[in-house]
Amino acid sequence: MIRQIAVMSGKGGAGKTSVTAALLKLLPEVVAVDGDVNASNLPILLSTQKLSENDFYGMDVAQIAIENCTLCGRCTEICAFNAIALDEQGNYSVNDECEGCAACAWVCPSKCIGMVPHCSGTNYLSQLENGFLLHADLVPGEDNSGKLIASIRAQAKQVATEKGLDIILIDGPPGTSCQAISSITGVDMVLVVLEESLSGLSDYQRLAKLIERFRIPHLVLLNKTGIDPDLGKRIEGVVGENGGEIIGRMPFDMEIPRSLSRRETLLDMSDYRPVMEQLCEKLLSC
Ligand code: SF4
Ligand code: SF4
Repeated sequence: MIRQIAVMSGKGGAGKTSVTAALLKLLPEVVAVDGDVNASNLPILLSTQKLSENDFYGMDVAQIAIENCTLCGRCTEICAFNAIALDEQGNYSVNDECEGCAACAWVCPSKCIGMVPHCSGTNYLSQLENGFLLHADLVPGEDNSGKLIASIRAQAKQVATEKGLDIILIDGPPGTSCQAISSITGVDMVLVVLEESLSGLSDYQRLAKLIERFRIPHLVLLNKTGIDPDLGKRIEGVVGENGGEIIGRMPFDMEIPRSLSRRETLLDMSDYRPVMEQLCEKLLSC
């Protein structure tokens, strides 16, 4: 049976990817997913080696066969996204605003508009020392990031099944967008990396509500602690009220980002290796 664990945070900069990278190195065998398809960091941090790559087709978009177009203009009238306009050659053409609704194809009296697959990103399978990493790059400005995450998660499950690996660890995107929803759908456990700050608390409350809707248990690593002990106490109360459990703490320490910039993980820092080991043990035992 494959267990899926998502590492999430309500906001960017909470330390989620650093924690995920350390956990990935501690697990004996794993399939990892980098769910941050707008800014994929795990391949950089873990110096992975690409094994394969494939184009990602998120949706079909309209394409006009101009040789059959009578220039009646009905397509441009119905398009709610202003995605069809006359070009410099005097032909109607489709621009990047197309949302793939197919309304233009339905109304075209000449039937010269077809819906064609549109490449909006690339997904990759890379080698880890102890397993595999599925990650992706969404073309800047493209939609369908949630669908792209669902696609690499499906591939991760396939790889785990084929290779007989029983843990999938997902480094989710920050926030509570459709990308976050796509990252936690169907997982067994969420580890929230919660920055000990007012914005961290506020963002955690939104994320906890989302997790609760999916009826997924969640654990919490409190990060960047020690600046405001009163706030720390308040956060502990809020985590309890939201059904979470704090299973680890990491202090605010400027040495951590310096170490990451040298491509070291938290395991390379003697103060934090034990914290990560305990966290990993606890995650695996839940
Ligand atoms: S498919 Fe929809 S969004 Fe795209 S050009 Fe046609 S009407 Fe506009
Ligand atoms: S509806 Fe069809 S025929 Fe009319 S302008 Fe658009 S593409 Fe051309």
